[in-house]
Amino acid sequence: MLDEATAARIAAGEVIERPASAVKELVENSLDAGARRVDIEIECGGKALIRVTDDGCGMDPDDAVLAFSRHATSKIRRVEDIFRVGTLGFRGEALASIAAVATVELRTAVAGAVHGTAVRATAGKRPEVAGTVPVPGTSVIVRDIFARLPARLKFLKSDAAESARISDVVCSIALGNPGVSFTLRVDGREVLRTQGTGSLGDAIASLFDAGLLRDLIPVDLAAGEGAARVWGFVGKPRASRGSRAIQYIFINRRHVRNLAIRAAVEGAYAGEIRGGTYPVFFLNLSLPAGDVDVNVHPQKLEVKLLREKDTCRLVYAATCRALAGSSAERPGAGYSRERPAP
Ligand code: ADP
Ligand code: MG
Repeated sequence: MLDEATAARIAAGEVIERPASAVKELVENSLDAGARRVDIEIECGGKALIRVTDDGCGMDPDDAVLAFSRHATSKIRRVEDIFRVGTLGFRGEALASIAAVATVELRTAVAGAVHGTAVRATAGKRPEVAGTVPVPGTSVIVRDIFARLPARLKFLKSDAAESARISDVVCSIALGNPGVSFTLRVDGREVLRTQGTGSLGDAIASLFDAGLLRDLIPVDLAAGEGAARVWGFVGKPRASRGSRAIQYIFINRRHVRNLAIRAAVEGAYAGEIRGGTYPVFFLNLSLPAGDVDVNVHPQKLEVKLLREKDTCRLVYAATCRALAGSSAERPGAGYSRERPAP
């Protein structure tokens, strides 16, 4: 039999693979808590320190302690709910997993509370709880991740490489949530900031070089009486890149990887861009929650779609339409760009 702390560490490895996974889980918790502002700080690639501070709903003292027990989640009650989740978290294992591989300090208060709560949790120990000043929202500090797991620590890349992964995670979450203001500081230096205006264009302008926005075409198309909608931006053919680094797909605000949808977008560019180059895109899909199964992957990056073919058709049509509209602006450019869906 494994003792509880060991079992927790093994399970934690599946969710918390590296510092960037911890950042993703913590920031998603902030979003689930309704935060309008999320400030992230990391030191030494997140290996020494990760701090995520939000202005979300906070927790009362009981919930703050409960949050560290495995399968404690305030977000689902029955197993059927998993398929209807509107929130990003639902497994109730992130905080427990992080505390199994690091030292975690959480400070939290609900709006108007007289006292805040501080919880300190570390592997194999009972969480210590104390009162603190009531700053509304939640701040979580993760120190010395994997310090007691040398094999895992060795598997991590350089501080710079781990910082870059964290930066990618924060960037994609910020793009999926343009209504929330994000900052990221790496070793004391601010490397990323969005304003939280609610406009995807503003978020893109904050996160990428200023020229990129000029090369983007807005996309917006709904199908099935509005049950499914695709919106965002696709790049003009001339903005295509030598890699797929600037291709983002969000389903119900969750950044996902989905090869079929990617192929549908790229298919719309057939004949428009050189081989070996890839279009830039930022596409949001709003789908009925029941059509998305996010539970196929512990890190929730891959999702299963119930009506994948229909969704791909919609994405393809929307991209063709956007490209046709933009080339029609140029005098003499072709009009009948829209092709039947594959
Ligand atoms: P999950 O997100 O899957 O519910 P977590 O382990 O990530 O599980 O979090 C456990 C619980 O702790 C959440 O359900 C939520 O109630 C609470 N919680 C965690 N982080 C925050 C936060 N930043 N603000 C408010 N509540 C939080
Ligand atoms: Mg969570």
